[in-house]
Amino acid sequence: MTENQDYSDRPALRCKRCGWVHFAITPDDILPGVPTDKFRQCFKCSAPVSELEIIPESEAPKGVTIQGVLWSALLQKFGLDATSGGRVVA
Ligand SMILES: [Zn+2]
Repeated sequence: MTENQDYSDRPALRCKRCGWVHFAITPDDILPGVPTDKFRQCFKCSAPVSELEIIPESEAPKGVTIQGVLWSALLQKFGLDATSGGRVVA
């Protein structure tokens, strides 16, 4: 993960199975040569990203390192709903 990046426009995603919170990233966020497999599942319980749900940023833990996940819906939103700033109400 790259440090000191601004992810404020990325929605927080919580795993429905274990409750672990991630944030959505795009393939561009992953450094070249780094395997993407581990970004396609829950960091904690390995649930597929389809098991993740968007939560309000206020519910995301503060002051901790949050793992990023490749989340296909974000990629779609980038094109379809750029004005929302990534904030989506499911
Ligand atoms: Zn999980």
